[in-house]
Amino acid sequence: MRGEMSMDAVRLLKQLIAIPSVNPMGRTVTGDIYFEGRLTQFLCNYFAELGVEYESIEVVPGRNNVIARTTPKPGVPTILMDVHQDTVPVEGMIVPPFEGTEKDGKIYGRGACDVKGSMAAMLMAFTRLVKDNPPNAANVILSCTCDEEATVKGINHLVQLSENPSGLSKILTEPPDLGLVAEPTMLDIVVAHRGATRWKIKTKGKACHSSQPNDGVNAIYKLADVIKALQTYADELSGWDAHPLCGPPTLSVGVIEGGESVNIVPDWCTIEIDR
Ligand SMILES: [Zn+2]
Repeated sequence: MRGEMSMDAVRLLKQLIAIPSVNPMGRTVTGDIYFEGRLTQFLCNYFAELGVEYESIEVVPGRNNVIARTTPKPGVPTILMDVHQDTVPVEGMIVPPFEGTEKDGKIYGRGACDVKGSMAAMLMAFTRLVKDNPPNAANVILSCTCDEEATVKGINHLVQLSENPSGLSKILTEPPDLGLVAEPTMLDIVVAHRGATRWKIKTKGKACHSSQPNDGVNAIYKLADVIKALQTYADELSGWDAHPLCGPPTLSVGVIEGGESVNIVPDWCTIEIDR
């Protein structure tokens, strides 16, 4: 039985890899490998065939979250399992991205690890739960969200649904008791996350020829003051109370760009910050 289940999971994973759902990551692109639409349709068909209640909810035009649940029972906790539908792009890959190539007991392809492997496992677990319907099992909601790799619109929409029920979803009408998020962790259970926020700071100046710098305003010099202040703040953060698992908060300036040419006083400069 266990062998059959794992073979089904392997077959399912290969099917999922063969359905491209590449996140354009903010780029303007065209082509049938982009966005989650084909995988969304596959998931809807899957849940329909399984005979469970499911919803496909548009988050932004053409990009949907798919949510399914086991038949709800009173008096037991609700567990939400979440897995994202999209993958990162395929540029630079040295294996065929959409073939699910099996080699030395491993499967290769875009999303095999992040995160269609976990999607196959969650779909199999959900399917088994539905078919076996064990007594005392928790209520399980399986959410397959869009746009995780770029701007996390899918999961934000899902959280909003559960916290501020608007009638848009009949399945997710309150926050679940527990959440289980599929991400590659080398099979470790991860119970805390540092979170991240990233932003840009831009200074503006006034351009002029570098032989007469007093005629302009140097945007790089202006941003240098900001960078110095951020560095001081980053040093302070390292002394803040450390989370037992995640450590102290951090800040890092990772990218700097500015100016057009060495002989022009720059009228713009930007940095990108990861906090
Ligand atoms: Zn992922």
